[in-house]
Amino acid sequence: MKTQLPDKGGHFGPFGGCYAPETLMGLLLDLEKEFHKIRRDQKFRREFEFYLKEYAGRPTNLYLAKRLSAYLKTLKVYLKREDLLHTGAHKINNTLGQILVARRMGKTRIIAETGAGQHGVATATAAALFGLKCVIYMGSKDVRRQSLNVFRMKLLGAEVIPVESGSRTLKDAMNEAVRDWVTNVRDTFYIIGSVAGFHPYPVMVRTFQSVIGQEARRQFLSKEGRLPNYLVACVGGGSNAMGLFHAFYKDQSVKMIGVEAAGHGLHTHAHAATLMKGQVGVLHGSKSMLLQDKDGQVQMAHSVAAGLDYPGVGPEHAYYQKIGRAQYVAIDDKQAIAGLKLLARTEGIIPALETAHAIAYLEKLARRVRGKASVIVCLSGRGDKDMGQISQLI
Ligand SMILES: *Cc1c(COP(=O)(O)O)cnc(C)c1O
Repeated sequence: MKTQLPDKGGHFGPFGGCYAPETLMGLLLDLEKEFHKIRRDQKFRREFEFYLKEYAGRPTNLYLAKRLSAYLKTLKVYLKREDLLHTGAHKINNTLGQILVARRMGKTRIIAETGAGQHGVATATAAALFGLKCVIYMGSKDVRRQSLNVFRMKLLGAEVIPVESGSRTLKDAMNEAVRDWVTNVRDTFYIIGSVAGFHPYPVMVRTFQSVIGQEARRQFLSKEGRLPNYLVACVGGGSNAMGLFHAFYKDQSVKMIGVEAAGHGLHTHAHAATLMKGQVGVLHGSKSMLLQDKDGQVQMAHSVAAGLDYPGVGPEHAYYQKIGRAQYVAIDDKQAIAGLKLLARTEGIIPALETAHAIAYLEKLARRVRGKASVIVCLSGRGDKDMGQISQLI
């Protein structure tokens, strides 16, 4: 089995690649060159590790959830506590990595698009840390829905530009960000928030997030003296899941499960289960699975968790699914809220609504296993950001 993926063109089997307009190709090639350089550069690695440790708070704990395990009976559950990081989720791993690349390339202006605002906040945070100018594109509908995150980004010194075109959500914000990038190539760096988009973004984001799995693998081995039976993580674009999975790729005994959002249900159109229900298509510069209608138009996704509410998914997940390396399942809005309550009451940890999908799936997994099994769950983020929404839902 190949492990050195993607290939030179950014392909993961039939997925990935770089479907970019001519005007972007030069930029992406420059970025790819720089990325290859930093991969082998000890100085870059030390700098990245310094900020992960001293600023973001790594390594995160691998915590044995005893009461949750007792409740589930057949599962011994360890939580990889990305929720304890600065800004409350795994996203900071990636934005710190990319901002260091931007600095190496001499860029002084950072742009990003954001849907719910979480990637925008993580980007604005990293930009403030290094004193770089930061512009965040956000659909005007999202600006209204996520006013608290807009306020956060502004406090951090970022400029938030509402996008009025199309459906006025994430997809349209992406288009505007790309337009900005092409226009301001010289001083601007574009930070993408998940393992999606044009090559080399999927492999670059994976590289920065794979610290999650490297730590977890080491920590689990030292606590248990063997490898876990399962890895479970929620999948929006797929960065926290790939961050956990990648270090275990060659460990064939370790089963990987990605949990998508079933929203109002897989039989409706209001879900975000891209891998389970989508078809092959191109979005944001790479070929992957995609929620689209009969005419190939990108469909609106839905999930109670804003961070899972994305019609695409990273190409490496599409590849893992195709070759059977990982299995993808879905949890609906109601089940996710039950998962959130379950973790809150058994462990005193309120997870993000995104993460709650992974927790909720444990009940199903517990019924599936024979005997006993061990599992690492990526606790991608904390629930503080969702309290307003949840108090209305419950
Ligand atoms: C953004 C987000 C996600 C979804 O993004 P991935 O790229 O799929 O990881 C999941 N959990 C939390 C807490 C998030 O903020």
